[in-house]
Amino acid sequence: MKIPFVDLTKEADYCFDELIEDCKSVISSGMYINGPNVKSLESSLEEFLDVKNIVTVGNGSDAITIILRALNIGRDDEVIVPTNSFIATAWAVAAVGAKPVFCDVNDDLLIDYNCAAKLVNKKTKAIILVHLTGRVVDINKFETLASQNNLYLLEDAAQSFGAKYNNSEFTGSLGIAGAFSLHPLKNLGIYGDGGFISTNNDMVACNCRKLRNHGLINRDESDIWGFNSRLDELQAAFALTKMKYIEKWTHRYIEIATTYDKLITSSVIKPIIRENHTDVYHNYVIRVQEDMRNLFIERMAKEGVETKVHYPIPIHLQACTSYLKYTTGDIPNAEILAKQMISLPIYPSLSEPELVYISEAVNSAYSYITN
Ligand SMILES: *Cc1c(COP(=O)(O)O)cnc(C)c1O
Repeated sequence: MKIPFVDLTKEADYCFDELIEDCKSVISSGMYINGPNVKSLESSLEEFLDVKNIVTVGNGSDAITIILRALNIGRDDEVIVPTNSFIATAWAVAAVGAKPVFCDVNDDLLIDYNCAAKLVNKKTKAIILVHLTGRVVDINKFETLASQNNLYLLEDAAQSFGAKYNNSEFTGSLGIAGAFSLHPLKNLGIYGDGGFISTNNDMVACNCRKLRNHGLINRDESDIWGFNSRLDELQAAFALTKMKYIEKWTHRYIEIATTYDKLITSSVIKPIIRENHTDVYHNYVIRVQEDMRNLFIERMAKEGVETKVHYPIPIHLQACTSYLKYTTGDIPNAEILAKQMISLPIYPSLSEPELVYISEAVNSAYSYITN
């Protein structure tokens, strides 16, 4: 068997004809920016996520940047960011002129509360909680810290569409605002770049709407500098079509994770399946001893199973953050995890025999590296 890490054409097959119809109807409508599909997507997402406001934007990275700008975070401000995340989480902070302050993560790959609490000082304005791999951060722990220190809790929900805190509240509705990505690789993905902001705060929503469109308050007047960061009609139409299937697909991600948990019987470290929160497994990340990881990945590849690493270099050790003067050893747990993690294929179209095959490949690769 040959199992790619992801196969987006297979995913598109689920609704191929509907996507073609979307193209036809948008192209013949004559409206390509700020039209009915964007409005309809925003209200569908408001209803789905049970939030007051959705503001679609050009991509998930801009979603974070625009939220920070809408909250007036910028020069001389600090924002705490987990160092184990996609680079965009920290870029957004730098993009508004603020300083990203990197925080360690726990073994579940999510931001470490104790570490975050130690990093708070007078300049700290916000903490970005990243629901990495679709796993919900326990925001409850952060709320007292935030209110005592006047901090905003922002959610980077780029990987967690459909995930629920306490099995009831969707990520993106927990903090001051949430940033989502519609990038093709995300659980709710389209056929190009896209993203959106969720917030129950009307003032933040209003600022974000203005910021995504050059700061314009009407056709001719801008009262602040803004961005050109709009979702287009075609991509909004694709997103609306995909939303019809998202609950089914979310269920499938969870089912695959549960299947892996059952079939991977070797003592490789697996994510702990939680009952009290709805985690959506954008990635299914296992861990092996760091000096054996390459060998493990090679064995998997030999069996035809493609794997990836999310993410091999913690952000505080990237060249682009060298001006912040972090060095190896500064954020120990994230640095160790970066050398141990391996992401297995996880997408709705994986079949049961494929899951059995991948799990057996994991079990045999693990026994190979440990013997
Ligand atoms: C994908 C992603 C982003 C950025 O989203 P884009 O739409 O690619 O700009 C931000 N944060 C996390 C955690 C992501 O996975």
